[in-house]
Amino acid sequence: MTDFNPSKPKVAFFDFTSCEGCQLTVLDTLQSNPELLDVVEIVEFREAMTGHADRYDIAFIEGSCTRPSDEERLASIRARAGVVIALGSCAHIAGINAIRNNMPLVEVRQLVYGGDAHYFDTYAARPLSAVIAVDVVIPGCPIDSDEFLKIVTALLQGRSPELPDYPVCIECKLRETVCVYQRGGTCLGPVTRAGCQAICPSSGYQCVGCRGLISNPNLESMEQIMAEHGLEPKDRQDRFNMFLSWELQGRRMQEASRE
Ligand code: SF4
Ligand code: SF4
Ligand code: SF4
Repeated sequence: MTDFNPSKPKVAFFDFTSCEGCQLTVLDTLQSNPELLDVVEIVEFREAMTGHADRYDIAFIEGSCTRPSDEERLASIRARAGVVIALGSCAHIAGINAIRNNMPLVEVRQLVYGGDAHYFDTYAARPLSAVIAVDVVIPGCPIDSDEFLKIVTALLQGRSPELPDYPVCIECKLRETVCVYQRGGTCLGPVTRAGCQAICPSSGYQCVGCRGLISNPNLESMEQIMAEHGLEPKDRQDRFNMFLSWELQGRRMQEASRE
């Protein structure tokens, strides 16, 4: 990871294709933890201020790259930043933006823009790491406030932040939550990266995979379990595609290149 000025690092926030919910989580976190503003200097944050800066020690980037013209802006941010952090699922794994990669782009463009599609240079949605080097990711849709603080603290202390590489089920079990499968539903917790304290299953919902896949997910077994619990093939596909389209496409391409 690139070093940065440890005295009072300059921090900037940028957004690409996203709902801006992760930046709102950051604003909320700053309101609840104003002491953070004593140790960093925020120099650019469109959602919160009008300032602009030419260089920054840490650049948080929210959103997916969805247009060729995004690439130039991303490269420019990368060139001006010491550390680049992908903020949230859209930036980390292309998130829900990559659902559209499962359809012919021409159809998607027609559905969204109709006869005006030629005004927009959209292409397949991709995570930041497909375009520029990313040093750190903060997963989730939206990001988890506590994890944001933990990662920023680690960076400020000169440590490399680490993400859990075990499934959501571990945190779910630690919370003694009754499994969604035992409640008659289906859940992607067994293949999804933990770190959210299994907030969805513990609140009566299912995990839909917003934090991305663990590094060794057993996707075949995951699909088989969902099938055994009554999820039809189309519904299983939709469930996987909601947040994991980009990662699954990458895995399929890797498998095809090995055959
Ligand atoms: S990850 Fe979710 S909350 Fe964050 S910008 Fe993307 S859609 Fe919004
Ligand atoms: S509810 Fe989901 S995350 Fe929790 S144990 Fe069951 S499958 Fe795993
Ligand atoms: S439980 Fe799953 S969907 Fe919910 S926040 Fe955690 S990773 Fe995301």
